[in-house]
Amino acid sequence: MTTRQRKRLRAVSWALRLATAAILFQTLFFKFTGAEESVYIFTTLGLEPWGRIGSGLAELGCCVLLLVPSTVTLGAFLTLSVISGALVSHLTSLGIEVQGDGGLLFGLALGVFLGALALLWIHRVEVPFLGHRFRPRRAQRPEAPAHRVLILGGGFGGVYTALELEKLFEFDDTVAITLVNRDNFFLFTPMLHEIAASDLDVTNIVSPIRKLLQRTDFFEGDATAIDLAARKVKLRHGSNGHEHDYEYDSLVVALGSVTNFFGLPGLEERALTMKSLGDALALRNRMIAHLEEADTECACDIRKPLLTFVVAGGGFAGVETIAGMHDFLHCALPFYGHLEPRDVRTVLIHPGEVILPELGPELGRYAQRKLSARGVEIRTGTRVTGVAAGGVTLGDGSCLESSTLVWTAGTSPNPLLAPLPARKERGRLLVDEHLELPEFPGVFALGDAAAVPDRDKGGFHPPTAQHALRQARVVARNVRAAIRGTEKRRFRFATLGQLASIGRRTGVARILGINFSGFVAWWLWRTIYLAKLPRLEKKLRVMLDWTLDLAFSKDLVQFLSTHPAVSTEASPERTLPTERPAVAPARTVRSAAAAGLERG
Ligand SMILES: Cc1cc2nc3c(=O)[nH]c(=O)nc-3n(C[C@H](O)[C@H](O)[C@H](O)COP(=O)(O)OP(=O)(O)OC[C@H]3O[C@@H](n4cnc5c(N)ncnc54)[C@H](O)[C@@H]3O)c2cc1C
Repeated sequence: MTTRQRKRLRAVSWALRLATAAILFQTLFFKFTGAEESVYIFTTLGLEPWGRIGSGLAELGCCVLLLVPSTVTLGAFLTLSVISGALVSHLTSLGIEVQGDGGLLFGLALGVFLGALALLWIHRVEVPFLGHRFRPRRAQRPEAPAHRVLILGGGFGGVYTALELEKLFEFDDTVAITLVNRDNFFLFTPMLHEIAASDLDVTNIVSPIRKLLQRTDFFEGDATAIDLAARKVKLRHGSNGHEHDYEYDSLVVALGSVTNFFGLPGLEERALTMKSLGDALALRNRMIAHLEEADTECACDIRKPLLTFVVAGGGFAGVETIAGMHDFLHCALPFYGHLEPRDVRTVLIHPGEVILPELGPELGRYAQRKLSARGVEIRTGTRVTGVAAGGVTLGDGSCLESSTLVWTAGTSPNPLLAPLPARKERGRLLVDEHLELPEFPGVFALGDAAAVPDRDKGGFHPPTAQHALRQARVVARNVRAAIRGTEKRRFRFATLGQLASIGRRTGVARILGINFSGFVAWWLWRTIYLAKLPRLEKKLRVMLDWTLDLAFSKDLVQFLSTHPAVSTEASPERTLPTERPAVAPARTVRSAAAAGLERG
């Protein structure tokens, strides 16, 4: 479809939406003011007054959904169902003409029905379940684009920048957008602990980037070097790890952060982390493997370290992780006949006085009380100083006999940023209020990779998903402004709220300065993050998992095994040669999860 055709179609869509909404508003007005013909219709149908009020509210919903660009298809569906009721009533009980109106009301209902049908056709690619059938083939990258935008990183910052750029350059084929990410999926980190705790199925919190982005060229690979002066990036990919140089006109750096072990002895080799999908799977597998081993007689001597799980870091990731682990282990125990609840020990280590410092002492203490009451040991005022075969050593000189340490207590910027000749703040790229590197116009940074000054409060904006998401919108607009030579937008945002789920339908939240705890906070956590999770399909899958979770116990399947599937023993007789490799993984998860785990 040409740019001109797309523009025309968009104009037709707006005209239809406005016309349909205008008719609905008018009938809505008649319904709520109790106009004579409206009361007559619902009295004839035997539905006065609740039928009138109910259909009025449904029409109000239709109007709103039709006018909001992202909900047009939902609005059209709802309109079709509401108006079908009206048409059927006309054709069966009311007749075409109502109170001598010459069929005007019937005609209007028919018009709305046809308008909604036309809208569904125009927006057919957005229709759930069917839309992908109508999706045109991805546009090829223009041979010689006038401007090349390269986005490094496919997390919150990178993917949302690409989504916004797609909207801004919908009608401009001269701009090529390319996104590079190590994995071919976008990971929704706020729900990561639910994978470790077996609350959600592995791929439900990840979305294939190719399904999220329509017009962006996706490149799965590793960025290995950035040359800001020459305006090019080295990308490595493929089974043989070959490299390409990619030249750009605008660069968006959204490479996130990496775990920092602060050089503590033993951590890099022995500690688990909680940043990627692979990390969550590795933790889940580790818990199951230790339960399996501890349940055997020969493990009597090592049962204690096997079943002592230590999490370092009392921030959001650490608290949600220990709560999820504790619940998972105790739900699994009834299936391990030789183990008792007292055999399992879960410990949270936090250097401050109260956990969850971001939420303030009141909510932190509440979370602490709730977790302690369930049996989680919380050791505050101390920190992990090392980990060895014998256990985890703490700053207070004690040692926890444990063979599992999960480290959530430190991050540092992506190492790719270190050699860049740009100003930095604790390793993060220091950007101006337009999220641009002052020394390198056309290079933008956001999310965990950027130090973004907070002009209102002073200091820097915190590295959270909600900030990365908002920064993405500003970066996309500023990329466009840079291309068109127009004025750039400033980034201004105040944290709306912060929430943590602490297991067993309990949570803590501070939203717009108001504290919530217990079930309400947990419900808010689920509702808000479900709404934020990209793609309807994933939302439905997560909802289904949560619902099934009410009836069934947690799954104990280990996801990855490297046991050989075929015998490696010499055969007495020579068998025919086969193309199958000699040793294949027994149960290979052919999913994003496996990719994440291998990389992790
Ligand atoms: C367990 C956990 C829970 C969290 N919970 C919340 C929460 O509840 N609310 C909240 O607001 N924030 C939360 N956060 C923080 C939030 O996830 C981050 O602030 C956010 O993801 C930052 O977005 P980003 O785009 O900068 O980085 P990321 O989302 O980390 O994306 C970076 C991307 O770059 C890719 N990448 C890195 N290096 C390379 C390379 N060399 N080549 C190619 N690709 C590369 C990575 O694979 C990744 O896909 C949580 C974080 C974690 C780890």
